[in-house]
Amino acid sequence: MIIVPESAIANLMTADDAFKAVEAVFAAMSRGDAYNFPVIREAIGHADALYGFKSGFDRAGLNLGLKSGGYWPGNADKGLTNHQSTVFLFDADTGKCRAVVGGNLLTALRTAAAAAVSTAHLAREDARVLGIVGAGHQSTFQLRQVAATRDFERVVAWNRSPEKLDRLAKVAAELGLPFEAVSLETLGAQADVIVTIVSAQAPTLLDAHVRPGTHIACMGTDTKGKQEVEAAILARATVFTDEVAQSVTIGEAQHAVGQGLIAKGDVNELGAVINGTHPGRRSGDEITVFDGTGVGLQDLAVAASVVERAIAEGVAVEVDF
Ligand code: NAD
Repeated sequence: MIIVPESAIANLMTADDAFKAVEAVFAAMSRGDAYNFPVIREAIGHADALYGFKSGFDRAGLNLGLKSGGYWPGNADKGLTNHQSTVFLFDADTGKCRAVVGGNLLTALRTAAAAAVSTAHLAREDARVLGIVGAGHQSTFQLRQVAATRDFERVVAWNRSPEKLDRLAKVAAELGLPFEAVSLETLGAQADVIVTIVSAQAPTLLDAHVRPGTHIACMGTDTKGKQEVEAAILARATVFTDEVAQSVTIGEAQHAVGQGLIAKGDVNELGAVINGTHPGRRSGDEITVFDGTGVGLQDLAVAASVVERAIAEGVAVEVDF
């Protein structure tokens, strides 16, 4: 069995590998070659923790396994990250445990990769201004990976607490992109691509903020009750997602569907665009929304990619198990 510890991930997983792994698994899901198993999420009644599993099987990539972990709110006091996760991969032919991989950084990288895959396939080719709504832990990963998908010339960003925008300004400077903290009105008026990555229960980005032709990647809503953008945006957009069942129950589309503004059948798989069975963006004026809910197969895909790289680079730790 191979072990790839959390500390080794930063040197092994590249943004390009994450992009390719996530793109391939979205395509496999849409072809029916890969499917996610029902998600388990429980308040365990200890340490205020929320614990769960996301799991699935990709017959095309032969990735079988699960991501186990959750949220321990007291961890920060112990010098640990509140979100903790570990990916377990199993041999699809024998069921033997093949690898244990640290899942914390991988979660951020696979989430940002999903937004990047959506932008690569759905944004206008002439997109030049990238807007980021949110400046939490995930936001810098989003900026780095989405910035690589088009010839962006500028970054505009908004956060509820503007002082946190510094972390995005630093990454924009590293990427050589001018950065400006703006109002939501200005962000919507200037950005060609908008990534929303906040944890909120009410819409932040409103319909009136968004102009025709924008691509919006909604990445923060992964639970019932959370919301980032006004449901009316989805009503005038073409909506794509990683997994339709999750999108309409725990994703951003839960609100538009719940309010009767769109139907489940209006939500399209991004994998279908990757496979060429959905045309994707049809015109320069169309608004496209990607509802990135986060699926277990994404975790397995990036973990398998890291294991391959660890073996190739001779740094895989192998134990008898
Ligand atoms: P974080 O706690 O580090 O940051 C939270 C962000 O939300 C900050 O920008 C904060 O200002 C903003 N915010 C909080 N309350 C708000 C409100 N009421 N109105 C507007 N903004 C508000 O979180 P993070 O790690 O950056 O994650 C952001 C979101 O992404 C979370 O909801 C998380 O669950 C979700 N997430 C989704 C996936 C996925 O696959 N889709 C993966 C990981 C995390």
